[in-house]
Amino acid sequence: MEPHTIEVRELTKRYGATTAVAGLSFVVRPGRVTGFLGPNGAGKSTTMRMILGLDRPTSGAALVGGRPYTQAPVPMRCAGALLDAAAVHPGRTAYHHLLALARSNGIGRRRVDEVLGVVGLADVAGRRIRAFSLGMRQRLGIAAALLGDPPVLILDEPVNGLDPEGIRWVRTLVRSLAAEGRTVLFSSHLMSEVEDTADHLIVIGRGRLIADTTMADFLRSGRQHHVRVRSPQSARLARVLRDAAATVDVLDDDTLSVSGLPSERIADLAAEAGLRLYELSAQRTSLESAFMELTQEAVQYRAAEPLGEQR
Ligand code: ADP
Repeated sequence: MEPHTIEVRELTKRYGATTAVAGLSFVVRPGRVTGFLGPNGAGKSTTMRMILGLDRPTSGAALVGGRPYTQAPVPMRCAGALLDAAAVHPGRTAYHHLLALARSNGIGRRRVDEVLGVVGLADVAGRRIRAFSLGMRQRLGIAAALLGDPPVLILDEPVNGLDPEGIRWVRTLVRSLAAEGRTVLFSSHLMSEVEDTADHLIVIGRGRLIADTTMADFLRSGRQHHVRVRSPQSARLARVLRDAAATVDVLDDDTLSVSGLPSERIADLAAEAGLRLYELSAQRTSLESAFMELTQEAVQYRAAEPLGEQR
């Protein structure tokens, strides 16, 4: 096993009659971003809390770098986590919040300044957290996760509630952390939040593993991709594409929905036939629907449970 992996073995967690996590096993490896995907209530937070030793498994085990997280000499140097960005002392300044965390983990003051810089909060470090927006709190949570310069990062819904610029920022940051060779586990209930970020996907539903796959394979195996194609010569183009074994639906006068061929191939075929294209766009919604399809059964089962078992 590589040194900085996260390993979940036959992990199960029951809360009374509710089984939040059911015999879950997977490995999260360094050097890439792993998206941890599942509908709300699928068991993502519970799994992350067990990895971090904040919740006790009913059975099974979770290891970080080959041992239980709580047995690391300085846990913050082993793995950093963003769990609930709201769970910080509102009366403290950002600086003092991080300093207190650093002190209790034997981490120096200089690192506090460094991480404030990394997350772009240096200018507001002296402000009380109560005045922070959700996006600023999220950045502060990420700063805390980075304090120990850990090789492993566990981020629970890090882009939840962020504006597009915040989402872009988190995406760039996690990609660079993975590029540095770190292990990054990034949860979300929305495919769209991880599709441009994750290299690998672990999908769960009702506490069970649904898929453990590279993003590339997931995209290939997902429902047929659709490519939206607009051309002033759409009728001729439709014939050319059908001849190349594509499935073509005519959306309107000049717009086609094409499946069975990637965008590049469609563009090449159009060029070879001397046909002009005004638009060629792979439809992102097909990804979200592949994910929905994958998890639907799990969601339906959940919805049928008595309300008393929901949180
Ligand atoms: P996710 O993070 O994927 O949204 P959670 O791990 O938060 O899912 O929740 C999984 C299931 O476990 C849900 O049905 C939730 O209601 C239940 N659950 C989570 N924490 C507790 C708890 N402390 N007590 C009782 N049930 C819980």
